[in-house]
Amino acid sequence: MSETFVRVALDHPLPTLFDYRCDAPPPEPGTLVAVPFGKRSVVGLVVEVSAHSDLAAGRVRNIEATCGACAPLSSEWLALVAFAADYYQRSLGEVALPALPQALRDRSRWPRLFAVEPRFRLTAAGRAALPDALPARAAALRRLAAALADARSLDAPDARALHPKAGATLAAWQAQGWIDVETDADAARAFDARADWGADGDAAVAVMASAVSAIAARPALTDEQAQAVDAIAGAQGFSPFLLHGVTGSGKTEVYLSALERLFAARPDAQALVLVPEINLTPQFEAAFRARFAALAGDASIVTLHSAMADGERARSWLAAHRGRARIVLGTRLAVLASLPELALIVVDEEHEPAYKQQEGLRYSARDLAIWRAKQRGIAVVLGSATPSLESWWQAEQGRYRRLSLSRRAVADAVLPAVKMIDLEEERRRGRGSVDGISGPLVAALKSRLERGEQSLVFLNRRGYAPVLACDACGWVAGCPRCSAYVVLHKSAHALRCHHCGWEARVPRACPDCGNVDIAPLGRGTQRVEETLAGLVPGARVLRIDADSTRRKGSAQTLFSNVHAGEVDILVGTQMIAKGHDFQRVSLVGVLNADSALFSHDFRAGERLFAQLMQVSGRAGRAGLPGEVLVQTRYPRHALYHALGRHDYVGFANATLDERRDAHLPPFVYQALLRAEGRTLEAALAFLGQAGAALADAPFAERVTVYDAVPMTIVKVANVHRAQLLVESASRASLLATLRAWQPTLRTLKGVIRWSVEVDPLDI
Ligand code: ADP
Ligand code: ZN
Ligand code: ZN
Repeated sequence: MSETFVRVALDHPLPTLFDYRCDAPPPEPGTLVAVPFGKRSVVGLVVEVSAHSDLAAGRVRNIEATCGACAPLSSEWLALVAFAADYYQRSLGEVALPALPQALRDRSRWPRLFAVEPRFRLTAAGRAALPDALPARAAALRRLAAALADARSLDAPDARALHPKAGATLAAWQAQGWIDVETDADAARAFDARADWGADGDAAVAVMASAVSAIAARPALTDEQAQAVDAIAGAQGFSPFLLHGVTGSGKTEVYLSALERLFAARPDAQALVLVPEINLTPQFEAAFRARFAALAGDASIVTLHSAMADGERARSWLAAHRGRARIVLGTRLAVLASLPELALIVVDEEHEPAYKQQEGLRYSARDLAIWRAKQRGIAVVLGSATPSLESWWQAEQGRYRRLSLSRRAVADAVLPAVKMIDLEEERRRGRGSVDGISGPLVAALKSRLERGEQSLVFLNRRGYAPVLACDACGWVAGCPRCSAYVVLHKSAHALRCHHCGWEARVPRACPDCGNVDIAPLGRGTQRVEETLAGLVPGARVLRIDADSTRRKGSAQTLFSNVHAGEVDILVGTQMIAKGHDFQRVSLVGVLNADSALFSHDFRAGERLFAQLMQVSGRAGRAGLPGEVLVQTRYPRHALYHALGRHDYVGFANATLDERRDAHLPPFVYQALLRAEGRTLEAALAFLGQAGAALADAPFAERVTVYDAVPMTIVKVANVHRAQLLVESASRASLLATLRAWQPTLRTLKGVIRWSVEVDPLDI
């Protein structure tokens, strides 16, 4: 009798499939199987079936189990992960397995995945009582309470994973009236605003509810919106669209209407809607749920994001995989969901760095979304007020079709007036600022308080590497070999260029004017909240940033307070710049923007411009005239000039010209090789050898290899990190080079770890 073998992808870096023997009939490609691997049992994905194996007969082991309940993944899905693996220089299994929800990769959970488990959820009383009613040191109980507060509901296996005696605890809590038990898993997904926005958010729920009903009421589309929807709904075959709409122009309504048109024509179609961050934009999800509540199917909309409990995520994923979910609304990981009826993809805020995964498989969900649309021959809509320069350049070349929304959708809402506060001028006139907050900004905040309007104070505090500047003459330390500013490495007392590796000691005085008081740009601004409270007496100040929102769900509660009018001045970082539709905000103040102008990172300006446009977009939404005040020492900088005129197009085209001249992306393609060693020398030596090996790689003449440089944060937990940049004007040449490089890299020794990143965002 002839034998049958399967070739299985495992989550393992070796670029190979693993052979196993199986009974006839063999599982189809795309089937999940449990197989022995060394001494363990692991879950893998069948990629091929074969009548023979190249392994010696005695070395081939049998598969242990087949996941019968999850239908095989399609060849189309396998092609998607195979593309991602090849493009991002990983093994197939390293892409395919992590793309599946954890519960599917755990054989012991297979039998229960499809049973309808009872689901537990907090009642309002439970939200009020927990976790304060628990003993301080009852860590497992607190975990369970926190998970219940975060997830819409939990099933028994999820609960038991958090607390071994969850069953008894949940029964006790139910007796207290703290939780409800539902036995219908799908009913549990029905949208419930109250459970979503927290117990103390009643006022917020009312505000949200009115916003939602306004959306559900389906406004008459503006001409520009109607044109965009017609273009998307009428598209045939692969059609990438760049929806460039100013803040408040109603991009969400374009997505909603395009989806409606899709489902009207094809009730069984599926749509994928990607957002950068799901927890910060509850209004977006609420709008989709309100509009599509009546869609056929028991799981019309599902969400997919990393903060979901395993069981919940697996159910969403399976609903998509079985074609039952009409709309999958998710963060970047959702781009790898199995969607057999996929007919339209939306990538909202397509410029957001959050679409780039920054560890493991470092993929760009936006780029994979475009590839997927091409694979299926469907439309993909990239929406933004400030498109990435990569996407803008595609549109300029006519590869993406541009759809423009140039005006705000709400009748009397206009874009805010943007003005610069010249800090240099303030200083010359002897009007200093207090803790970085200037007099004119304080005056503007006070006048809003008197009028009962709200203000936002935005701190640009993203981890920009420090640059050295002279306060007296405006000199900023730059690289003599590159058109880049150099990074101050305080501990090494050195200035380093992260592009070419040039290095120098920190000068004692400004080389231009001799001033000895030279210092890094930008200052710590944690005190802004307190300072503002002192400067604007009577104002209720609220800070929203990563620290104040560490507890999940707390961001929503804080935002609810803003919506409910309980806050006069909202202070925050990038989190407040996102898509919140604050109705009473009429002033935005911007602090600390300048450091990004002189970053060694050539994308810093693009990001700053996008952030400032976003945050400016928070002002003057509902008829209140909006004003934006940017504090700066460089009021005539081209970036601020463009911002003042709301001129994204001017900014984008000027910046593209600079990038073209400097041979930077999107005019070249880049990849980084990173190495981590016990010493910096070891990491650099590894990279040196790796770089030398590229001298005789195919296409060597079309690829530029730079010197290895230490990373900005060189040492993390006693591991020293360095990187090597490889660049080419031809994407194909770069990829061919990287492919040929892999076997060599695997033979090099001397470092703890190395990895290749294609299209890095941070260099
Ligand atoms: P964007 O995402 O482009 O910044 P939003 O989608 O948040 O804009 O829409 C801004 C506001 O305009 C929302 O309050 C939305 O309900 C409203 N809106 C959208 N389209 C219309 C329309 N055609 N008529 C009236 N209001 C609209
Ligand atoms: Zn100087
Ligand atoms: Zn340099």
